[in-house]
Amino acid sequence: MKSQDIRKQFLQFFEERGHLIVPSAPIVLKDDPTLMFNNSGMAQFKEYFLGNATPKSKRIADTQKCLRVSGKHNDLEDVGFDTYHHTMFEMLGNWSFGDYFKKEAINWAWQLLTEVYKIPKENLYVSVFEGNPAENVPFDQEAWDIWKTLIDEDRIILGNKKDNFWEMGEQGPCGPCSEIHVDLRSEEEKAQVSGKSLVNNDHPQVVEIWNNVFMEFNRKADGSLEKLPAQHVDTGMGFERLCMALQGVQSNYDTDVFTPLIREVEAITGKKYTSNDVKDISEEQNKTNIAIRVVVDHVRAVAFAIADGQLPSNTGAGYVIRRILRRAIRYGFTFLNTKEPFIYKLVAVLANQMGEFFPEIKTQQNLVTNVIKEEEASFLRTLDQGLQLLENVVKETKGNEVSGAKAFELYDTFGFPKDLTALILKEKGMSYNEKEFDAELQKQKDRSRAASETSTDDWTVLIDGNVETFVGYDEVEKEVRITRYRKV
Ligand code: ATP
Ligand code: MG
Ligand code: MG
Ligand code: MG
Repeated sequence: MKSQDIRKQFLQFFEERGHLIVPSAPIVLKDDPTLMFNNSGMAQFKEYFLGNATPKSKRIADTQKCLRVSGKHNDLEDVGFDTYHHTMFEMLGNWSFGDYFKKEAINWAWQLLTEVYKIPKENLYVSVFEGNPAENVPFDQEAWDIWKTLIDEDRIILGNKKDNFWEMGEQGPCGPCSEIHVDLRSEEEKAQVSGKSLVNNDHPQVVEIWNNVFMEFNRKADGSLEKLPAQHVDTGMGFERLCMALQGVQSNYDTDVFTPLIREVEAITGKKYTSNDVKDISEEQNKTNIAIRVVVDHVRAVAFAIADGQLPSNTGAGYVIRRILRRAIRYGFTFLNTKEPFIYKLVAVLANQMGEFFPEIKTQQNLVTNVIKEEEASFLRTLDQGLQLLENVVKETKGNEVSGAKAFELYDTFGFPKDLTALILKEKGMSYNEKEFDAELQKQKDRSRAASETSTDDWTVLIDGNVETFVGYDEVEKEVRITRYRKV
């Protein structure tokens, strides 16, 4: 089944059960001081759960563009190295705002996975909250009893507070969750190790796909819990992971969400990607694979962020986007031998593939392409020199720690985000002195504060020589060519 159809079926299933289908909120949040990017489906509905706003419908479903690269959820370090964490991913979700509760949510989730998508029941596990008396939260007997009618008891796993209890903050709505995991191991592997202990990431082919959160309590200031007057359901299923399960592959990168992008990288670079079922690959091939995964993952994050109005810049959310792109550029440069801009060429593939469902990636295709191309060209101008400098510094360094002043020079003169320097050093079993780096940064800030009091925010770009403020993609002429950013 094609990914397009998998997404459609999810939405259709919940529409048939009375849910209003809404579009994804933008990936970038401009008016939430607590969050830079949407990192889950529920973020756009937060006010409904807090009772500050009323939803259009008590049942809603959608797919949400999410980015997990900062704050509480930061998966960046895993991306490229594992096969199921992305920077940008889609989270399919269904919600009940004071309407249906555990019985419907669990039964529908099960029906969708096993009857519509036809995942064999013996490949699924579920988890239920075990309870935590010290913190006043009870075992989720209700969820356990419902699951028992659907699945063998030995496939219901008890989970702790970290994995199976959701809280919005120290106070406010909270409740237990029940997760669904899929076991995609080969039959041989299953025969070697069996059963329960495999849930929760003990094996790369046993993966969490769907989290069902049941908001039933309110935590008060004194730490005690009371039942909420109305109870809510909030679910999130990783779309790319679901596609992996349904397309009979063992890696998200072997699904049709990623293969068109991978084929394009292969065509541009002449390198080959080996899918996950090819075992015993060389060290060099492994590095190529990681680099290709990083590139095809990161281009999605960067492209969707730009299409939603977040341009790369030197501050705030813009700098997060720039860092992601520079990480991809360096992986290409070092492991795919790309000395010229090439990531921008993937935008056309992405627009072609995702444009039907997410029209913004099509309407903003020119802008996104030009911005990425310009970013690549600009970083490539200093990348080689920076890498050489780092190489020399590494040679001269006794021990494992490079000086913070050198890491700062790379940041300041060569545009190396500090996590990029850290990543390159980590590949050599080294690190840099962060305290020294921070001290250098502070010195520079003091200098520039003294030099100038003017500053611009990260939405300001220089368009063909004229300073303009970018206020969202609707307002920017599509044909306008961005030649250079104003340095902030
Ligand atoms: P994991 O334990 O695998 O990191 P999670 O428990 O952090 O996932 P949730 O916050 O429960 O994830 O999000 C709901 C669903 O979104 C997950 O069950 C998973 O399918 C998907 N998901 C979460 N993080 C990612 C990611 N970085 N890339 C792709 N899918 C993800
Ligand atoms: Mg996680
Ligand atoms: Mg988890
Ligand atoms: Mg989870």
